Amino acid sequence: MCDCKSNIEARLVVRAKEMHPEALGHEVKLTGYAFILGETVQLKGAMPFEFRAEFPLKQGGLKRKVEKTSMMFTFCPFCGVKYDAPAETESNWVMHILGPDDVIDQPDEITALRQANQHNLAFARLMANDPSPNDPYCVAVAEVR
Ligand SMILES: [Zn+2]
Repeated sequence: MCDCKSNIEARLVVRAKEMHPEALGHEVKLTGYAFILGETVQLKGAMPFEFRAEFPLKQGGLKRKVEKTSMMFTFCPFCGVKYDAPAETESNWVMHILGPDDVIDQPDEITALRQANQHNLAFARLMANDPSPNDPYCVAVAEVR
C-alpha cells in the first residue's frame, strides 16, 4: 500500500504555510478516504456520490430524495497502485433495501453490513431533516441469498 495520502498532506501543509504565513497550526487532511475492513483494515480512496430519485407517496405525488454514499477506488488515484483486492470467493451476501426491494450483491458479510449501515445512516439523516408520514420505508439489511 502506498503512502500518497500522508505525502500529499505533508506537501499541502508546506503549501498552506507559504500561502498563509500569518496563520498558525496549519493542518491538511485529505477527506476522500475511508477505512475498509477486509483481511486487514485499509485506508482507501473513495468518491462520494449522491443517489437522487422521486419516490411515490401513499397520498399520491412524488417526493425527491437524496442519498449520499460513496464508492471505493480500486487503485490509488495518485500513483495508480492497486489497493489490496479482497479474496476472490463466491459470496451469497446482499444488501437488501426493504420497501423499494432493491437487492445489491456484496462480496462478503462485512461489506454487506457496512453498506446497509451506510444506507440506513443516510436514510435516518434524510428522515431527521425532512420527515413526512408518507415517506417510503427504505431500511437496508444484510442478508444471505
Ligand atoms: Zn498512491
